[in-house]
Amino acid sequence: MLLGSIEAGGTKFVCAVGDENYNIKDIIKIPTTTPAETLKKCVDYFKQFPEMAALSISSFGPIEIRKDADKYGYIADTPKKNWSNTNFLGVMKDNFDIPMYWTSDVNGSAYGEYMNSIANHNPTRSLVYFTFGTGVGAGIVNNGEFIGYEGHPEVGHVKLKRAKNDEYFEGICPYHKDCLEGLASGPTFEKRVGKNGKDVPITDPVWDIMAYYIAQAVIQATLFIRPEKVVLGGGVISEPFLDKIREQFDKLFNHYLEVDDLKHYIVMPTVEDNGSATLGNFALAIKQYYKENIVKL
Ligand code: ZN
Repeated sequence: MLLGSIEAGGTKFVCAVGDENYNIKDIIKIPTTTPAETLKKCVDYFKQFPEMAALSISSFGPIEIRKDADKYGYIADTPKKNWSNTNFLGVMKDNFDIPMYWTSDVNGSAYGEYMNSIANHNPTRSLVYFTFGTGVGAGIVNNGEFIGYEGHPEVGHVKLKRAKNDEYFEGICPYHKDCLEGLASGPTFEKRVGKNGKDVPITDPVWDIMAYYIAQAVIQATLFIRPEKVVLGGGVISEPFLDKIREQFDKLFNHYLEVDDLKHYIVMPTVEDNGSATLGNFALAIKQYYKENIVKL
């Protein structure tokens, strides 16, 4: 069986096809331009694979996931220029009459990490996957299902306690200024120190400020969800930075609850080559395929 995956991000779309063992057979990257141009390139790509049996899309958002909503399958009101109110799933449905799954980008990644833990014979039944990049978000898998009924989680916009030495930084979220995304997304480096995060040495105190905020987000996730693991992905995250986050977590959480050794509890994604969402999409596509085909029987 051939399965399709679209990981739709703000800067690029990753389209791939794979088999039922989740081996990637073909993959391309499409720059995110206008909705019409980008979605046409996606359609053209998948038209090359007429045997594709199911497709899963994990998209940047916010997106409408309530199946009974008029705008189910749409990218809703988004700060991403031109993309508000885009009927993403509708365009794909118009072109391919196959089962389709629709979820947020971070949910796709979270599901990929969940599937990979099963493949590695060490199932993580409950996990939170955060991404810290241009924006901040989290996907949550609990016992193989996503959390969120009225919508996908919007963890990027939780409120935090401000760090000392950072009181004068306003924050960059257009809605809240100093929410998690406003204080700890990638572009905050430009605002605080005038250069890209990848050019800021890990010894710079700005990383301690970032670790303080991200550790608070991990604590909130721990208290709300009680996951087995918290996976931190995205361009801001690196192994040396993770150590700073673990240290802050340890200090702030003060062993209130028992969690796994922090080296195992707060981790980087396990799927190589940023492939978590593609793997997650393959698994969600096959799940949707069987769901729709069993209902038909
Ligand atoms: Zn916000």
